[in-house]
Amino acid sequence: MTHISGFERSQLLLLPEAIDDYVGGCNPVRFIDAFVDGLDLKAVGFERVEAKATGRPGYAPADLLKLYIYGYLNRVRSSRRLEAECHRNIEVIWLLRSLKPDFKTIADFRSANRAAFKKVFREFVILCRRLDLFGRELLAVDGTRIKAVNNKDRNFTTGSLQKFIAAADKKLEDYLKRLDAGDAEDRATTGSRVKNLAEKIEALNKKRGEYAAHLAALEKSGESQVSLTDPDSRAMAAYTKVGVGYNIQIAVDAKHKMIVEQAVSNDVLDMGLLQRTAEPAREILDVEKIDVVADKGYFRTEDIASCEEAGLTPYVPRPQRGPAVNNGFFRKDEFRYDAARNAYVCPAGQELTPIREGKLRDLKKVDYGNAQACRACALRPRCTKDVRSVSRLENEDALDRMAARLKARPEVLDRRRETVEHPFGAIKQWMNQGAFLMRGLEKVRAEFSLTALAYNLRRALNILGMEGLMAAVAA
Ligand code: SF4
Repeated sequence: MTHISGFERSQLLLLPEAIDDYVGGCNPVRFIDAFVDGLDLKAVGFERVEAKATGRPGYAPADLLKLYIYGYLNRVRSSRRLEAECHRNIEVIWLLRSLKPDFKTIADFRSANRAAFKKVFREFVILCRRLDLFGRELLAVDGTRIKAVNNKDRNFTTGSLQKFIAAADKKLEDYLKRLDAGDAEDRATTGSRVKNLAEKIEALNKKRGEYAAHLAALEKSGESQVSLTDPDSRAMAAYTKVGVGYNIQIAVDAKHKMIVEQAVSNDVLDMGLLQRTAEPAREILDVEKIDVVADKGYFRTEDIASCEEAGLTPYVPRPQRGPAVNNGFFRKDEFRYDAARNAYVCPAGQELTPIREGKLRDLKKVDYGNAQACRACALRPRCTKDVRSVSRLENEDALDRMAARLKARPEVLDRRRETVEHPFGAIKQWMNQGAFLMRGLEKVRAEFSLTALAYNLRRALNILGMEGLMAAVAA
């Protein structure tokens, strides 16, 4: 009995004569080829779609786009590795018809056409809409941080710079004192101690100068932090860990957990990004109205109100924060607003009426209270230290409507989690994209557009199979 053995390397074989014979009819690479060939690349925004009349011929953008889509679908993202695949991977050899662009050509193509990749992503979303892959009823919006090409040590905030400068000043003061003391001692010795200290002072002064320059630049720009390797990236928290990266926002359709819209920004918080992410998704899904669910990080009165105006019906739980919550007193949602009487009814059943007006973030704010009732109230230890007041912003009716919707449909929050966890989990684990390869917001956006396209393509292949997808591009 012997093991299974391969061919003798020097043996002549009767191999298929065409490369096409090596790529099966159900190979996804055939869909990539047909999909890109069906795109109007000029309209999408790619450069050099028409070959130049003179000079050395360049590669067709369609070929390089196919290479990138194939690469992102197969976890090959770097231009050097894509170049290597052009030489050794039969699927890529088939896809590019044996073309072998070098890594620089491949990298330059991605860089030069960075704005066009998002449009390619959208073209695929439109195709999926035609294939009825979206339920077009519920969108889940969420964000995550993906690491940038910028070490944490190369990011500074105004606070950290001020701290560094203060520490450097203190250390310099100490060095100078020791230098004075050492001067006297070293007169009788070799003077090496003084020399060492002088070198340390020079190095520290240089560092201090760099920090001061970063701080001055921050004050001038009005920004709160600076990243030295990738200036567009920002330090932001993901759960309990802070890292330097970009904020990735996705709007996912609940039917098959496919991404309808994606956006990359360097906003440190998700707050205020709900409408910005969900409205383009509603437009591309071509619906008048759609439900949108997000976590409490998106809760912002102005954004909830503007979502309603934009045809989005938001479901965002109210975060429990503020001085009353911190002190363990009754939360604001335990006070019921009575619109007909323009008053709040507190947990003791007392009526709180308007007592003063003010402003919060350009919005009219009215405080409601009832000092007389509070002073005689048995629940006061659970409510306030003195007299309780609750405030109401001018567009807070939208929050009341949203609270009523959430009360009637609490399971929507579980659907949010199930829906958004799939793409983020797949992108970070299966697609191995926990970090960007490129620097700069625009380039990173191009990268993520390819990632989101690859994720959707994989989902569509799993749901419809190659036959279903090929039939759609052939139609
Ligand atoms: S302290 Fe005032 S607001 Fe609080 S429960 Fe009593 S009456 Fe109502």
